[in-house]
Amino acid sequence: MISLSQPARTGDALRTFRATIRTFIQTEFVPHQDRWREQRFPDADAWTKAGAVGMLLSDVPMEYGGGGGTFAHEAVIVEELTRAGVSFASFIHDSVAHYILAYGTEEQKGNWLPRMARGELVGAIAMSEPTAGSDLQGIKTTARRDGDHYVINGSKTFITNGWHAGLICLAAKTDIRATGPKGLSLIIVEAKDLPGYRVGRPLDKVGTHAQDTCELFFDDVRVPAANLLGPAEGRGSFQIMENMSYERLAIAVAAVATAERAVAVTTKYVKERTAFGKPLIDFQNTRFKLVECKTEAHIARVFLDDCVERFIAGRLDGFTTAMAKYWLTDSECRIVDECLQLHGGYGYLADYPIARMWTDSRVHRIYAGTNEILKEMIASSL
Ligand SMILES: Cc1cc2nc3c(=O)[nH]c(=O)nc-3n(C[C@H](O)[C@H](O)[C@H](O)COP(=O)(O)OP(=O)(O)OC[C@H]3O[C@@H](n4cnc5c(N)ncnc54)[C@H](O)[C@@H]3O)c2cc1C
Repeated sequence: MISLSQPARTGDALRTFRATIRTFIQTEFVPHQDRWREQRFPDADAWTKAGAVGMLLSDVPMEYGGGGGTFAHEAVIVEELTRAGVSFASFIHDSVAHYILAYGTEEQKGNWLPRMARGELVGAIAMSEPTAGSDLQGIKTTARRDGDHYVINGSKTFITNGWHAGLICLAAKTDIRATGPKGLSLIIVEAKDLPGYRVGRPLDKVGTHAQDTCELFFDDVRVPAANLLGPAEGRGSFQIMENMSYERLAIAVAAVATAERAVAVTTKYVKERTAFGKPLIDFQNTRFKLVECKTEAHIARVFLDDCVERFIAGRLDGFTTAMAKYWLTDSECRIVDECLQLHGGYGYLADYPIARMWTDSRVHRIYAGTNEILKEMIASSL
């Protein structure tokens, strides 16, 4: 688990923060998981409660309402959610805050970040469309300038946090004639009671059922032109390329935490379950498979902690972040699958944590850039 070689005082503060977040998740989120899974989204007040305990924007400066911490705090939150088996996409919410922090004006930061930190505005990132996921330049949603406003038309799909989203970081074409990356801009949409804006029912996924993933529809939606992120139109692709590292690293954190949890849960299981008159752990195959998983999880942890330290120091490049996201999520899925196998039939029952890890982890290889797209990206550095 993230501890990092930081001064003792910082380490202590991080430990206290972890304990607070752990207790909060156990008391406020865990008891509601079955209901959240059934309704396919967390309760709205989960966001304001998370804000009150300091779980949102923990690594955003205090002057904007954030916790004033570093990515180590974000990592602690992702680890604790994973450890508890709770799907709650605060890392996407926080990622939106980092787009605003990086490219927003002082006025935009002052307007949106404090409300995001309190959980009054839930953040979502809306890039993918029905006909364009990996190929972002193929998106069709347009934002046409009309006086002091943009008029937005189009639809988005697979949008995490879409159900409660109050603040959407939207990728749209501001120049439909431009070829290549220059036609795309990021515009912040305040979604509440916005005429022409509509959210579809949460999509029926194979996993992460407690967390909403929705379609969003924009029909002549008018947004102030002042909501453009950055000094000029056409910067969206570059902003996404730069800032996506945050989301990718958060997913890498979840991947390693899941792998470690899978090994822990499975080790316990194979000591309790018997076959042929002895515990499963007494079979050499069981021990060897678990040793392989534990070793791989350990390698993953060392790589991840190094990436996190470098990220905090501003020394992690996009290629290495892409390596971390692709390799650690592939590793996570290998480990979870082996661990499920060691559970036998019980590993296939939804109520068993290993089964949930198996379905929930699979998406890590798909979103924030599929692992194939990331390999293409890394290949460009060869
Ligand atoms: C649960 C969930 C949550 C999500 N949350 C969000 C969100 O919050 N916001 C958002 O904008 N999107 C979100 N997404 C969408 C996600 O980012 C896309 O699904 C992903 O980028 C892939 O796009 P696609 O589904 O259109 O697949 P496609 O782009 O059609 O890809 C299909 C397959 O082809 C491969 N492929 C495509 N192009 C290449 C290439 N050039 N080289 C090699 N292989 C290639 C892909 O790797 C993949 O295996 C989410 C998706 C899921 C499932």
